[in-house]
Amino acid sequence: MNEFELIRRYFTRPARRAVVGVGDDCAVIAPAPGMELAISTDMLVDGRHFLHDTDPERLGHKTLAVNLSDCAAAGAVPRYALLAGALPAADPAWLEPFSRGLFALADRYDVELVGGDTTRGPLTLCITIIGEVPAGQALLRSGARPGDTVWVSGRIGAAAAGLAHLQQRIELPAAAVREAVDALERPEPRVALGIALRGIATSALDVSDGLVGDIGHILERSGVGAVIDAARVPCADWLRALTSNPDTKSFAPGCLLAGGDDYELCFTAPDAARAAVLAAGFAGGVAVTAIGEIRAGSGLQIVDGEGGGGGGGGAERPIIDAAGLRAFDHFG
Ligand code: ADP
Ligand code: MG
Repeated sequence: MNEFELIRRYFTRPARRAVVGVGDDCAVIAPAPGMELAISTDMLVDGRHFLHDTDPERLGHKTLAVNLSDCAAAGAVPRYALLAGALPAADPAWLEPFSRGLFALADRYDVELVGGDTTRGPLTLCITIIGEVPAGQALLRSGARPGDTVWVSGRIGAAAAGLAHLQQRIELPAAAVREAVDALERPEPRVALGIALRGIATSALDVSDGLVGDIGHILERSGVGAVIDAARVPCADWLRALTSNPDTKSFAPGCLLAGGDDYELCFTAPDAARAAVLAAGFAGGVAVTAIGEIRAGSGLQIVDGEGGGGGGGGAERPIIDAAGLRAFDHFG
């Protein structure tokens, strides 16, 4: 199988919305009137962003999911994707399930693969996603204001726990393994939530590198500070339960606050928008939880329990030196 057979067999589908899809020098697309394009790219490197023995169908899902998640964070509808892949070999036993996993998710979100590039090399997968958002309505990291509530969707920390389990850094309870590994390998992008939050959220991002570090990006771009209540960060009961075992005491907070790979949305909204945020969560098919409050100034304070988050006031007990919890940094 040569390069062009490979592209034709595994990555070519008839163009639908696109004017020109796979097969020409450029894909050609026509944005709908009144829409802006939201564009992002995300690269996954073997051994760095996924374990070498990851099931290829799940890897196909995740490669696209992490890009759809960026669209979700912008409140954009994902429309088109380009896939640049370095592959060690033209192996049908890998390509078939990989493309199946990728297209299964693409079909669910009505996303068209319109192009890419294919080369031989150490397994590296890079998707560029193109979404549409009504002009001026993209959700950004920069709009958080003092007094806004900080929200997060879904549950946090399971993916990091799943990775630790697969790497045998911890042994999760048997009943938790599937949820944790699924969170790592099959994240569900919160596209419907992002769309529902247009005009409601003052800032948003997707949690990919760890909650605390990612919130730090909102604070920096918005020029504000925040207090987050660690006790309010939603997570699985089995993850919270690990804190009661002395051997795994510090493991759960690490997963929750700095784990990463969650692909949930973290966003801010004025207190008065509380009902609208809950309705957006309902429309988006995912629970949303208030975990803290934006403050004037700068820096992130993390407290544990009463007094922290949302309500303001009260004695706030910092539990973690947030300065030591940065977002995952490949060159840090
Ligand atoms: P060029 O040499 O002009 O860059 P290529 O020969 O690399 O074009 O690719 C041929 C066509 O196949 C192009 O339309 C390109 O976008 C598409 N393509 C290449 N690799 C992929 C891939 N992995 N997935 C989807 N489309 C691809
Ligand atoms: Mg090329």
